[in-house]
Amino acid sequence: MSTSPIWHPFTQHALMPEMTKIDRAEGAYLYTPKGREIIDAISSWWVVTHGHCHSRLVQAAQDQAGKLDQVIFAGHTHDPAEQLAEALIDLTPEGLDKVFFSDSGSTAVEVALKMALGYWHNLGEAQRNRIVVMEHGYHGDTIGTMSIGERGVFNAAYAPMLFEVDTIPFPEPGKEHLTVQAFEQILTDHPNEVAALIVEPLVLGAGGMLMYDGDVLKSLKTSCEAEDVVFIADEVMTGWGRTGTLFACEQAGIVPDIMCTSKGLTGGLMPLAATLCHQRFFDAHYSEDRARMFFHSSSYTANPIACAVAYANTQVWQDEPVQERVDQLVKRQAQHLQALQSHPGFSNLRQCGTIAALDVKVKDQGYLSDIAPKLYDHFQKQDVLLRPLGNTVYILPPYCLTDSDLDKIYHVISNAPDVLGL
Ligand code: PMP
Repeated sequence: MSTSPIWHPFTQHALMPEMTKIDRAEGAYLYTPKGREIIDAISSWWVVTHGHCHSRLVQAAQDQAGKLDQVIFAGHTHDPAEQLAEALIDLTPEGLDKVFFSDSGSTAVEVALKMALGYWHNLGEAQRNRIVVMEHGYHGDTIGTMSIGERGVFNAAYAPMLFEVDTIPFPEPGKEHLTVQAFEQILTDHPNEVAALIVEPLVLGAGGMLMYDGDVLKSLKTSCEAEDVVFIADEVMTGWGRTGTLFACEQAGIVPDIMCTSKGLTGGLMPLAATLCHQRFFDAHYSEDRARMFFHSSSYTANPIACAVAYANTQVWQDEPVQERVDQLVKRQAQHLQALQSHPGFSNLRQCGTIAALDVKVKDQGYLSDIAPKLYDHFQKQDVLLRPLGNTVYILPPYCLTDSDLDKIYHVISNAPDVLGL
């Protein structure tokens, strides 16, 4: 048993007594004190977009830390937050006019739900309190975000605390109309009761890197508009180039009413999140009556250092050829997947933008598949950080990854079935 007092996230300590210590990172690499050089093929839980310790982001953090470290954000403001908010309004789809800051993807989603419910409450339509979600969705690990996520092993112990939602089926290829029909049926069955629909656009991340067509989003958005239902896009994972465009909603040609962003918002250097919304959500809370204000905050809301880094990130997107790096990665991922198509050990090879995924053919599937820790160890032994979701292996690297690093990642994936005797 480890002597460390630390309890690690999503970790079964009895099966993983030792953590890999990292004391330095640069670009696509994590370095251990003992000299291992590990390729970070999952961008350290999907956050590091440009590579670790990007010099302009580091500089922004250093400059800001010596100037204004933190200030209560109720009744106060500062340039890093103001500049960042302006930049976010410019970069996100037209029609998102207000920005609310928080600290993580989960809180960005909680804020989105509260904005939608607060909106209906303040408009005198408190009966509009049903939330519709997509099968296999994942939106975080707080009680609220677990409630709107897929029920299963992640949250079984907390089920008594979770609130009920309505679920529409995942849009399987060729059966997308069933998803839209199910949504319309819920709207018909519960007239004026649905507050919001929340979806991860194009890719369901923790649910297994499940990918679907953007046209469904367009149809769902149209149904929302017809019935005045708030459309919330959880772009926590899909944002900042992951799906090939800056935000996934762009590819679907939709503007959500509320959009959540985190992870790549700071290029992975600092924890920060933002929930952007249409002006009408702000207006519904705008009043001389203090009981109608938006009741949400956290101590670190709009932390100046995090905001300064995120603003620097928006400039990196403008000044550096980030989109070209993304395009190149998209192309290279496609070539590698193509080469693996006929591999007998894999199925469901799929890609959305910079994200590639495949399923290892085993009988034992799902998040608790025994193959997951075996694959993880196999990759670790070859100095590649890949963290399978059950029998699904996905490659979600920083955009600075070199061709030879990607070659190595695919090499260790392709030899896994043989090495593990599958
Ligand atoms: N939404 C989505 C789509 C996510 O993928 C995640 C995290 N993987 C979250 C929300 C929660 O983000 P965080 O872990 O930063 O709370």
